[in-house]
Amino acid sequence: MVETVSTPAMERDADARFDAVIVGAGFAGLYLLHRLRGMGLAARVYEMGQSVGGTWYWNRYPGARCDAESLAYSYSFSAELEQDWEWTERYATQPEILRYAEHVADRFDLRRDIRFERRVTAACFDDAAGEWVVETDRGDRARARFCIMATGCLSVPQRPAIEGIDDFAGNLYQASRWPHEPVNFAGQRVGIIGTGSSGIQAIPVIAAEAGHLYVFQRTPNFSVPACNAPLDPAWVAAFKAHYREHRALHRRGAGSGFGDLEIEPREHGPAAETAAELSDADVHDILENYWNHGGARFIGAIGDTLMRRETNQLVADFVRAKIKATVRDPATADALCPIDHPIGTKRICVDTGYYETYNRDNVTLVDVARNPIERVTPTGVTTRDGHFELDTLVLATGFDAMTGALQRIDIRGAGGARLHEAWTAGPRSYLGLMVCGFPNLFTITGPGSPSVLSNMLVSIEQHVDWIVDCLRYMDAHGWVRIEPEQQAQDTWVEHVNEVANATLFGEGGSWYLGANIPGKPRVFMPYAGGVGPYREICDRVVAAGYEGFRFAGA
Ligand code: NAP
Repeated sequence: MVETVSTPAMERDADARFDAVIVGAGFAGLYLLHRLRGMGLAARVYEMGQSVGGTWYWNRYPGARCDAESLAYSYSFSAELEQDWEWTERYATQPEILRYAEHVADRFDLRRDIRFERRVTAACFDDAAGEWVVETDRGDRARARFCIMATGCLSVPQRPAIEGIDDFAGNLYQASRWPHEPVNFAGQRVGIIGTGSSGIQAIPVIAAEAGHLYVFQRTPNFSVPACNAPLDPAWVAAFKAHYREHRALHRRGAGSGFGDLEIEPREHGPAAETAAELSDADVHDILENYWNHGGARFIGAIGDTLMRRETNQLVADFVRAKIKATVRDPATADALCPIDHPIGTKRICVDTGYYETYNRDNVTLVDVARNPIERVTPTGVTTRDGHFELDTLVLATGFDAMTGALQRIDIRGAGGARLHEAWTAGPRSYLGLMVCGFPNLFTITGPGSPSVLSNMLVSIEQHVDWIVDCLRYMDAHGWVRIEPEQQAQDTWVEHVNEVANATLFGEGGSWYLGANIPGKPRVFMPYAGGVGPYREICDRVVAAGYEGFRFAGA
């Protein structure tokens, strides 16, 4: 165990020694630091932002809020914290979630081990010393037995390569790198590129303020209403009285761990397993019920929506009918109806007044699939059919998801092997936790784990707890080195693919597959088997003496 090194916050770490280096101070990094401290280990966290919160630090765009319900999207590790913290809305806004992250950092005194405004540039395994050497862009250099990547799944913005974009003379904003100071759209001509979750949340809010908003849509997405509302204190008190049981359901559920908060009367699963045995009227009633209740659980209303094409078609038709019933202009409604992918195979969006926004006089949908963007000029956006003069342009163009943050670090494992090369054909890992050839390197919610298909807080806590137990196990047995076996990794990758191939996900053309990044290998990255079954697999691996992992002593 390394003695705690105390470096003043602005000083560089110069060959400082820790038990573990953690990359990232989002929800994963914060909880991990807390747990490692609890084991008496010395840990250093490097974080790019000026403060904690990860995705909720960066994504400050107008309308940003969580699409998981507040009482489920929160830490479960401290009963006092979960009782004390008061969420105000069913779906918390970005500022409220950021305040929560800040509160956690202060409450558990975490900041003193975090170095902010540091981007980790390299992490190399020193074979001889059995240590990771981690370097930052500010000249820090730290050595640690363990290196743990808490870098987030959606932390590297994707800026589109549109000709002339850097020459735009107005205000240019990226949703996921939004300024900290207020942005004023009043009276402005605003353009937004991108209609994924970020764009769909931002568009109604910007439209309410802008002089005119032009939405440049290349591919429409399916969106369901959030039905957000202030939380009723009496309901919250009743829920909190049974928090442990609720948390257990979130963790052990067959699905995504979003919780049992949302649906009546069958609270813990789909309303029906398959549409095959239902009349069209019954399907409609079930979907109507979920639609009116709001939230992403809509996609789970009928159990085989992501498995059976016919069910998927019925669910997609239902949403397309809702779009057409909401949007008054038939041509705009048509353009907003997704037809290129099965519903749910791209992350379903959750909105507040999105489709209604297109009934405003100051909003124009520009279908850039038919009328492609040719270039950005200093004064606006030029499409094949015309030019749109703009004061402000917003990019809500997504992320290099799941592997982007890891691939931007020069990670070298045993014998100098580069992660970049090991993952040329797509990410390969054992359980999404470790990679063959990279001893003592862990990834929190890495590719190959439920991660983005789940409630991130549920998956983060599970991975952190698993890693902490593993480090205890190593300590108890005198092991200093852990690495997955090649065979175990290959079998796991095969299983991840097999589970994905039994679904319609492969047809989504989504960032789950890396399809939004030119040149990125098309591999379905998350594990689609559900958080409960995944947890059982991880627990079984432990019960079998960390089956598939190889340990070594000093
Ligand atoms: P996204 O889903 O990848 O959407 C990016 C959008 O930008 C797409 O509409 C894409 O169109 C468009 N785009 C990209 N390059 C373009 C170009 N050159 N020209 C025209 N359009 C272009 O990204 P996102 O909206 O940031 O969401 C990513 C994920 O973050 C979500 O799926 C979700 O998991 C998470 N998120 C969650 C929340 C929440 O909790 N509420 C909020 C925001 C984000 P194409 O589809 O045609 O490529």
